[in-house]
Amino acid sequence: MPMRFADYHVHSNHSCDGKATILEMCQKATELGIVEIGFSEHMDFEPEDSGFGFFDYERYTAEVKDAQEFFKSKLVVRKGIEIDYQEAFEDDIREWLRDKEFDFIIGSVHYVNHELIDYELLEDNDLERVYRAYFNEVALSIESRLFDVVGHLDVVRKFIDVGRAELSSFDYVERMGMALDMIVEKRMHLEINSKPSLLKETNIGMLPNEEAVTAFIGKGGRLISTGSDAHSIEEIGGGIREIMIFLKKFKENKLQLLFE
Ligand SMILES: [Zn+2]
Ligand SMILES: [Zn+2]
Repeated sequence: MPMRFADYHVHSNHSCDGKATILEMCQKATELGIVEIGFSEHMDFEPEDSGFGFFDYERYTAEVKDAQEFFKSKLVVRKGIEIDYQEAFEDDIREWLRDKEFDFIIGSVHYVNHELIDYELLEDNDLERVYRAYFNEVALSIESRLFDVVGHLDVVRKFIDVGRAELSSFDYVERMGMALDMIVEKRMHLEINSKPSLLKETNIGMLPNEEAVTAFIGKGGRLISTGSDAHSIEEIGGGIREIMIFLKKFKENKLQLLFE
């Protein structure tokens, strides 16, 4: 089956930083020729996070259902969630998920040691230290078996100037390889996140990068997911066609998107 034009990483206004309604985003998706949209609202467990306490499961469930009915034959609408993982909150996450249903669950690491991974953190800290802590959390998130998809792997890269990247000065490649091994072994979907390509002023490309995706497939990984990480109507589907073109060279490998 040829790969579908699907966006499985979309934030509506059910996320604290989302700008549009679910219906508005679905409408735009149909105009772009997207056949399947997966909402992945933020669920945050870090009390310091601006999104903490924002997500409303009942309201979200009702609105996704409305959208599914409204767009019936035109667009497949999936009810997903992007959970911010830190080991410190693993029990809380498990407990929270117990009485809820999602079509897919993305596990993403945005924090290390309760500190948000952003430009500031990387200015104040050694890159190797941040990466070490990051890959450690990623490994724990995979081992938790709570999630279907590993969200924007290598997100640290989003906040470093690629030209400056001293990634070769430490065991970055080995650590990335270990994370990919675990994703293959646990049969999780590796998300290819095209958000950075929307940030025209940078040259970061997709997350993880082409090299890592190639390594993942080389290790036997077949399960993937494509997502733009859109937070507004303008961003829906952004960069996904480019990912699909990149993945064409692996068509012999029979990659499988979510729900295939
Ligand atoms: Zn995220
Ligand atoms: Zn996101």
